[in-house]
Amino acid sequence: MSTLDNPIEYLKGVGPVKGELLKKELQIFTQGDLLFHFPYRYVDRTQFHRIADLREDSGFVQLRGVLRSLDTIGEGPRKRMIGRFRDASGVIELVWFTGVTWLQKHLSVGTEYVAFGRINAFRDQLNLPHPEMEPVSADPAQPSASFDPVYASTDKLNTKGVDMKTRRRLVKTVLEKISAQDLPENLPPRWMEQFRFPARFQAIQNIHFPRNQQELDAARNRLKFEELFFLQLRILQLKLRRHAASKGYAFQHVGECFNTFYHQHLPFELTGAQKRVVKEIRQDLGSGRQMNRLLQGDVGSGKTMVALLCMLIALDNGFQTCMMAPTEILAQQHYAAITEYLRDMEVETALLTGNVKGKKREAILQRLREGDIHIIVGTHALLEDPVEFQRLGLAITDEQHRFGVAQRARLWAKSRPHPPHVLVMTATPIPRTLAMTLYGDLDVSVIDELPPGRKPIQTVHRTEGHRLRVFGFMKEEIAKGRQIYVVYPLIEESEKLDLQNLQEGYEAVSREFPPPQYQISILHGRMKPADKEFEMQRFVKGQTQIMVATTVIEVGVNVPNASVMIVENTDRFGLSQLHQLRGRVGRGAEQSFCILMTGFKLSNEARERIQTMVRTNDGFEIAEADLKLRGPGDIEGTRQSGILNLRLADLARDGRILQTAREVATRILEQDPELALPEHQPLRRQLEAETKASKAWVRIS
Ligand code: ADP
Ligand code: MG
Repeated sequence: MSTLDNPIEYLKGVGPVKGELLKKELQIFTQGDLLFHFPYRYVDRTQFHRIADLREDSGFVQLRGVLRSLDTIGEGPRKRMIGRFRDASGVIELVWFTGVTWLQKHLSVGTEYVAFGRINAFRDQLNLPHPEMEPVSADPAQPSASFDPVYASTDKLNTKGVDMKTRRRLVKTVLEKISAQDLPENLPPRWMEQFRFPARFQAIQNIHFPRNQQELDAARNRLKFEELFFLQLRILQLKLRRHAASKGYAFQHVGECFNTFYHQHLPFELTGAQKRVVKEIRQDLGSGRQMNRLLQGDVGSGKTMVALLCMLIALDNGFQTCMMAPTEILAQQHYAAITEYLRDMEVETALLTGNVKGKKREAILQRLREGDIHIIVGTHALLEDPVEFQRLGLAITDEQHRFGVAQRARLWAKSRPHPPHVLVMTATPIPRTLAMTLYGDLDVSVIDELPPGRKPIQTVHRTEGHRLRVFGFMKEEIAKGRQIYVVYPLIEESEKLDLQNLQEGYEAVSREFPPPQYQISILHGRMKPADKEFEMQRFVKGQTQIMVATTVIEVGVNVPNASVMIVENTDRFGLSQLHQLRGRVGRGAEQSFCILMTGFKLSNEARERIQTMVRTNDGFEIAEADLKLRGPGDIEGTRQSGILNLRLADLARDGRILQTAREVATRILEQDPELALPEHQPLRRQLEAETKASKAWVRIS
């Protein structure tokens, strides 16, 4: 057994109590775990800011000075602690709002500290809120160290005996006990040479205690590559195995249905991207393997037509198909679009949602069982047990992020002997780096071109002061025969207040746009389905000119005559949500507009989101910006995936490393899919070790 496998409590300086804490607080179970919790930043002992040089936008700074005073101010929740911190050039205030008692005990006036934090400005005065404080000690044990690692920790650990200094000492102790054999190389020599990576042992040493920036960069680079490379290797291997194992129906004919429709009834010329994607899917469907494909395409890029053409291929091969949407409204729209496209064809279609009941439902279920219905469109209702197909060959889901994996699996089970081919459509543009990781084992098709003749939507940012002019603009557009959405945020945590906002907004609009000249619809998730449907239909038919709604209209709704999208309290929406909302307009031939309303005060992040929206209509660019602003953990659908618990790599910033890692992994698997070659044994061992660790982890949690 390697030293690294030794339980953490046996490490000199730890013991049972601190050991228990390290396990509980940071999931550090072994001495090796301690090494693989990398620092998230370093104190560069050589670089300090002068207080006199600080500016409002200095960001994170490191100061070296003496704490001159420390006072508690205010009472109750407003209680805070102010420290005066001085260096040779000036004085700055340090501010703490919590942890006052602890600070009083641990900070001492007159002592020299290194303070690290982010500069803040309050009423034209700079201060440093909640800085990390570390006494400047003349520590003779590490005279040459200019970088001190800083690790993620918890209050409990800090106060119960594993503070940053102790932590560094523990890491050092482990590093001193081990040698290169304990951290054997796990990358093939060929790639080590090509990329000039430091050896693994060296990289681990240097990520904790680098002597200079170059050492740190090299160590980081290597370890990030390693992390992403093994992730890609695992994903790609899974994909290869799935391909090898997953027998599926082979749709070998492209026959009468497809051809008749394509040559006689296609209402428009397909875009180049649509053609390419249909071809990709057609090849997949004919291969004899089960297809698992993600179809990405920005809002309005024409995914429905691609889906329909795929369904016709299934039909030509004697199979039924289904298409599942996350909401009733969407299912109806898909159904309407599909039956309209198929108007002159002899294809049997049906719609199944929770609202289809009684005799009508029974009839549909029976016809489906007997193979009498070729295409069925619906909601979750399609997943229910009584829904049986005679021969389901292709299942399409729209807006996949609303469906869980388990739900999709229920759909798969509805076909024997093979599962149906699966096509998942999404309008949430996912940055390439993320898609490569998240959907790495799915095949991905991208429609990256909009149908011709679309005018880019004009987006502007307006505040309350512009309200009257916005009303005036709405009147002009309505006079031209256009329709308008006004959307309010609604989230569960503040639902009551949000609904009240919506109601007030509705009343304000009603006063400004009185009947009979104007008609207004209102739509929110709390309404009965029948009422929602009624209001939606009035708007779709053009009987109302303004739709005041919450984000229920976010997904997929298609009213080409609507040309203005007004978003209220824009700062409360995320970027991808705003992009989805904006996609509701710009669907017709007319110039469309998106007006982003906010109050006067905005956080920097909200301002950046709004500027991004004003600057570009490109869903992928917006997704990249979103990833940078929020980090991958918050992008829809990634949280549950678990695979994004990366230690070091950052998908928003390390796209290039990821790309390279994927290329290397692909090359290796092409040459040696089962990693059987001697030179690939280290890869195999690493994958096995990771699998074991993740299983152990599941047992523990
Ligand atoms: P989405 O990808 O958002 O689901 P839709 O399938 O709803 O997009 O298509 C948006 C609109 O564009 C529809 O009105 C559709 O009829 C139209 N459309 C789709 N493809 C084309 C094309 N190649 N040329 C012209 N219009 C198209
Ligand atoms: Mg759609």
